[in-house]
Amino acid sequence: MSDTAPDNAIVVIGAGPAGTRAAETLVKAGVKPVVIDEAPKSGGQIYRRQPDGFRRPIEDLYGYEAPKARAVHAAFDGLSDRIDYRPNTLVWEVREGLVHTIDNATDKRGSLPYAALVLATGAMDRVVPMPGWTLPGVYTLGGAQIALKFQGCAIGSRVVFAGSSPLLYLVAYQYAKAGAKVEAVIDTAPFAAKVKALPDLVLGGSTFAKGLYYVGWLRAHGVRCVSGATLLRAEGKDGIEALVWRDSGGGEQRTACDALGYGFGLKSESQVADLCGVPFRFDQGQRQFVPEVDAAGRTPVKGVYACGDGATVRGADAAELAGERAALALLEDRGQAFDRARAQALDAALAKLNRFRRGMDAAFPFPVEMAKAIADDTIVCRCEAITAGEARKWMRDLGAMEMNRVKAFSRVGMGRCQGRVCGTGAAEVVAAECGLPIEEVGRLRGQAPVKPVPLDPAEGE
Ligand SMILES: Cc1cc2nc3c(=O)[nH]c(=O)nc-3n(C[C@H](O)[C@H](O)[C@H](O)COP(=O)(O)OP(=O)(O)OC[C@H]3O[C@@H](n4cnc5c(N)ncnc54)[C@H](O)[C@@H]3O)c2cc1C
Repeated sequence: MSDTAPDNAIVVIGAGPAGTRAAETLVKAGVKPVVIDEAPKSGGQIYRRQPDGFRRPIEDLYGYEAPKARAVHAAFDGLSDRIDYRPNTLVWEVREGLVHTIDNATDKRGSLPYAALVLATGAMDRVVPMPGWTLPGVYTLGGAQIALKFQGCAIGSRVVFAGSSPLLYLVAYQYAKAGAKVEAVIDTAPFAAKVKALPDLVLGGSTFAKGLYYVGWLRAHGVRCVSGATLLRAEGKDGIEALVWRDSGGGEQRTACDALGYGFGLKSESQVADLCGVPFRFDQGQRQFVPEVDAAGRTPVKGVYACGDGATVRGADAAELAGERAALALLEDRGQAFDRARAQALDAALAKLNRFRRGMDAAFPFPVEMAKAIADDTIVCRCEAITAGEARKWMRDLGAMEMNRVKAFSRVGMGRCQGRVCGTGAAEVVAAECGLPIEEVGRLRGQAPVKPVPLDPAEGE
C-alpha cells in the first residue's frame, strides 16, 4: 500500500532539534518535506513537549533551555502548512526506495517512496549491566528525566543518580529543583579526567558553564557528589533498596535509596541508517559504532543524509546546526540554490563543537573495566533473560567472536529492544572474553522492524 505523498518526497525522520532545522531549511528553499516522528508531538528528547492537558510552565520544564525550547517549538509550529507532518508514526523499515511506517495510535501502516532521506533520529541512553539492574526502581538517566519532564513525576522519593555523563548532574539537579530527595550523585569518571579535558571543555561556552553550575548547586544544597567510583550492584528484594559502590580509595559504600537513575552517556539511534545501507565506523572517543557521515551530513549512500545525535552524539545545539547543514547539503546535491556562506559558517561552528565533544568523551570516559567485569550471573539481555555467563559459554563452545554470531547462538539482542539496550554491554563481554579490541567484535546489525510492530496491522489507504 502506498501513501498519497508524491513519488519524489524528501523525507525527514525525526522532529527534534535536528529534524526541525532540516525541515525549516528545506521549506525556505521551496521544498515541502514529509516529516515523520514516532512521538505524538515535535521537540525530540531535550525539548519534549508535555501531553495535552498538562500545564507546567515552559521555564519549569526546560530550565535554562526554555528560550531554546520555545524557539525550536515555534520554528516547527511555523512550518505546519508547509510540511507534511506525520506524528505518532514509526519508521520501522526502509527498503528499495520505500519508507515503511506504522501509526502508533491506529496501527495503520503505510509505505512512502522517497527521493531523499534526512535521518534525524536522535540518541538513547547507554547502560552497562550490573547485578540488580533489572530490579524495580532502577531506571536509565534519560528515563528518569522523561518521567519528570513528560509526566511531572519522580522515579522515587529517595533517588540516587549514578554512572557518568553530563546528563548525570543535569538530571540530579532537575530532580532536586523539583523537590525530590537526591541521596547522592555517584560519578564513575575520575575528577582528574575532567581537569585534563578542560581545554576542550571550555569550548562548550555556556553549556560548560551550566555543567559547572549544576555541580556547584548540588553541592551547595547538601547533595553528596563523588567522582571516580565503581558501581558494584543494586540491592533489594522486591525493588531497589540500595546502591553498592566502591569509592576511589577502594572502600565499599552502600547508599540507601528507593530508586536509581543510571547511565553512561548516549548512543546514536542508528538503526534506520543501517537499514538504508549506510556503512558504520568505530568512534574511539565515544567507544561506539556510528554511521559514516561527512561534516555536511552526507552519508556514502546517495540521497541519504544524517544529522544530530543520530549521526554522532554532540548535543542539542550541534543538532540544530547539523540539521540545517544536512538540508543545505541536500539542496546543493539536487542542484538547488543554497546559501554557501551559511554552510561554511555552520561547518566552522560544528568543528568547534566537535572539540567540545572530544572533551566530553575524555571527561566522562566509558567505564571499560566495569563492563569487562560483568559477572557471569548478571543478566545482559533482559528481553531474552540471557546472562553474561550464558553468552560467554556460547562463545567458548561455538567459537563465536562476532556480535551477530553471538546473537544467533545465544539470542542476546534478539528480543524487543533488538539490541538497542543490551548491545553495548554484550559487546564488552564478548570483546573481553575473546581478548579482542571492542571494535573487532563488531556491532549488532539493525534489523526491521526497528521497534516491535503488531503482527496484523491495519491496512493503509
Ligand atoms: C532521554 C534523553 C534525555 C536527554 N535530555 C537532555 C537534556 O536534558 N539536556 C540536553 O542538553 N540534552 C539532553 N539529551 C540529549 C539531547 O536530547 C540531544 O542532544 C538532542 O535532543 C538531539 O537532537 P536530535 O534532533 O538529534 O534528536 P532528538 O531530539 O532525540 O529527536 C529525534 C527524534 O526522532 C524520532 N525518531 C527516532 N527514530 C525514529 C523512527 N524510527 N521513526 C520515527 N521517529 C523516530 C524520535 O521520536 C525523536 O523525536 C537527552 C537525550 C536523551 C536520549
